[in-house]
Amino acid sequence: MIYADNAATTQLDADVLEAMKPFLTSEYGNASQPYSFARAPKKALKKARETIAGCIGALPEEVFFTSCGTESDNWALKGTLTTERDTQVVTSQIEHHAILNSCRTLERLGYSVAYLPVTDKGIVTPGALQDALQKKTRLVSVMLVNNEIGTVEPIAELAQLAHAHGALFHTDAVQAVGHIPVNVNDLQVDMLSSSAHKYNGPKGIGFLYIRKGTQIYSFMDGGAQEYGYRAGTENVASIIGMAAALKKNVDHMAEHTLNLHAMEQAFFQVLNQSGLDYIRNGAAQRAPGNISLSIKGAEGEMLLHRMDLKGICISTGSACDSVNTQLSHVIKAIKVPEAYAKGTIRISLGVHNTVEEAVKIAEALVGIVHQ
Ligand code: PLP
Repeated sequence: MIYADNAATTQLDADVLEAMKPFLTSEYGNASQPYSFARAPKKALKKARETIAGCIGALPEEVFFTSCGTESDNWALKGTLTTERDTQVVTSQIEHHAILNSCRTLERLGYSVAYLPVTDKGIVTPGALQDALQKKTRLVSVMLVNNEIGTVEPIAELAQLAHAHGALFHTDAVQAVGHIPVNVNDLQVDMLSSSAHKYNGPKGIGFLYIRKGTQIYSFMDGGAQEYGYRAGTENVASIIGMAAALKKNVDHMAEHTLNLHAMEQAFFQVLNQSGLDYIRNGAAQRAPGNISLSIKGAEGEMLLHRMDLKGICISTGSACDSVNTQLSHVIKAIKVPEAYAKGTIRISLGVHNTVEEAVKIAEALVGIVHQ
């Protein structure tokens, strides 16, 4: 089996599992309790928060643990609005459904939402944001890296513009954290979402970075965990795993990026020699390992299933959308020409892939299309 759907989820790193094990077995104390048995989980939790903060240039008290990227996105969007309905939220047409469907809920509640168009490379331009900003804009949310086509957005510029209009800025960095350098101060964001299973950590754990002083309501009400902003007994083992996974990926980022670029190069060498008629989607500045292709005359769904028969896991759009055979909202937004659009697939290589696998994937794909 060749796993090439790392934008959907990644393999748990072996060292990460080792770091988690004590907190799944012997160190099961509730980190909120005052007795000595709770000391080890409490200390590990503090260290994990510091590690994560250090990886993104934040303060530890600005890192709030959540159950996943989806929760972080929901919280950022729904937690910053007040009862004043004459408020606008601005986002882009190519966001993940965690953002888009949160925005639909906001609209149902009476808030207005502007969905920014993107260029054919999937870039949200400062000009488009400038046109949409209004006096009543309270929040702008634009993703750092797109999950389908890998485009890296000009977040610092967009955040500056939002701030100049008195709006808060959130970025969904679920596909960016652990893959490209992420520093909340360079990006100038007020909030940032992340999810551990996208960088070789466990599933069901994430965090929301919230800049000190940002006005936000709690999302999960209950106990006093997470400074009273996100209640619920801490998922200690997963939090430890998330910190270990992030630190390892950040420490090895340069090496991983080189390896992923070598894999991409090998992949495209095979593709280009085959004479396949395709478009590579996304901007030149994209997350390493993301290969979104639209192949002329092909059917993405058919390609996915034929690749599966050969033991290769790829995706047609985003994994969360795999039941939906229609063109993805991202492919529509970047206006992929009709003859190519239905033949869109996403191959997302990760740290556990090799150049040999990249070549095998390309050969299998060419074989299927040329059959
Ligand atoms: N945002 C983006 C850009 C994603 O790619 C994903 C997952 O595919 C999410 C949010 C949701 O993250 P999670 O699976 O942790 O809920």
